[in-house]
Amino acid sequence: MGEPLPDDGQTELLADIDRKVVEVGRGDTLLGLLVDAAVPRLDAHDAIEALRSVFDPRRLQVGQEIALLFQREAGSDRRFVGLELEPGVDRAVSVARLEGDAYEAVSIDKELQRRKAAASAVIDSSLFEAGASVGVPIPVMAAMIRAYSYDVDFQRDIQPGDEFQVMYERYFTDSGAAARDGDILYAALTLGGRRMELYRYKTRDGVVDYFNRQGESIRKALLRTPIDGARVSSKFGMRKHPVLGFSKMHAGMDFAAPSGTPIYAAGDGVVEEIGGKGSYGNYIRIKHNQQMATAYAHLSKFGPDMRRGGRVKQGDIIGYVGSTGRSTGPHLHYEVLRNGRQVNPMSVDLPTGIALQGAELAAFRRHVDESDRQFVANLQSAAQVAQTAGGIGDDHPQSCRGERSC
Ligand SMILES: [Zn+2]
Repeated sequence: MGEPLPDDGQTELLADIDRKVVEVGRGDTLLGLLVDAAVPRLDAHDAIEALRSVFDPRRLQVGQEIALLFQREAGSDRRFVGLELEPGVDRAVSVARLEGDAYEAVSIDKELQRRKAAASAVIDSSLFEAGASVGVPIPVMAAMIRAYSYDVDFQRDIQPGDEFQVMYERYFTDSGAAARDGDILYAALTLGGRRMELYRYKTRDGVVDYFNRQGESIRKALLRTPIDGARVSSKFGMRKHPVLGFSKMHAGMDFAAPSGTPIYAAGDGVVEEIGGKGSYGNYIRIKHNQQMATAYAHLSKFGPDMRRGGRVKQGDIIGYVGSTGRSTGPHLHYEVLRNGRQVNPMSVDLPTGIALQGAELAAFRRHVDESDRQFVANLQSAAQVAQTAGGIGDDHPQSCRGERSC
């Protein structure tokens, strides 16, 4: 910050403008900052109103710099003509005073450079730690875990000696500052000798999805578990009922988890029923297709905007763990229904979304070869950077390891 925004050849117009940079301190409001900088209260108010159309001033962070622009006028006080700030490295917003003293705000998305980064690591304890050890940003690791959640139970399946590889996009500003992470382009996870690869690919219909090397979508119709990190406390089948005492068929699966833990829609669908339902307590049922539905019981509350007839996407938060209805403690009771009858969630075969065929499969195979080649090249450049880096005074940022323009 502190540098003028690109002036796009308007230098001559800006020549008589003074920039006064103020920094947001704890408890500051934008109005207060402007008034303290001798901006007339009415002007400050109008400028902030204009700003609201592109940026919510309540989202100003402590330390954020704001450039206040004043025009020097011979023989009169300097006149407030606008302000500029950069809410993030990839965006600049400005407010300008127009003729007639109206204020207008504009938001400029800065052009970002996309680069690819590759990393490979052995998993000693957790996947997150392994990712951190080779500089992979946490959101990328989280996206990778989500992508694999159809096949891998990360609470259980990871063992020392397992490994992962990943290639992902990162976006940089012209000045080289990391702006944001992009998508995972390729990942491989080797667990107990089983290697699972995924490739991001856009079909000719415009569908973007992750596919295995054979061109099958890794996305399953239903998630294995609709809740993160929960322990299965009761399986599907006969059991002694904890409250009523007698043996009874348990028509679902119970996941023990603290009250308030988010519950995800196991698949895309429509909310078929939502509300209190006797011993189920707060209950929501989602119809996924003509045959399949899933139901979730004992919720403490429902997710935002959940209503009967509403559409949900796989992974949407539909509610939170609770202990409503006939329940001995906070848990999720989860049911999978086929043609209206409860079936064992663990034995339901989960079909994959799509399998690429014909010319599409041929195009995908070329994409796979190209991705493999890029992964190796990016990983090699990462290794070179790692070898030449590390000296005192080396200013190559750690997070840039292995990134190349693409
Ligand atoms: Zn249950």
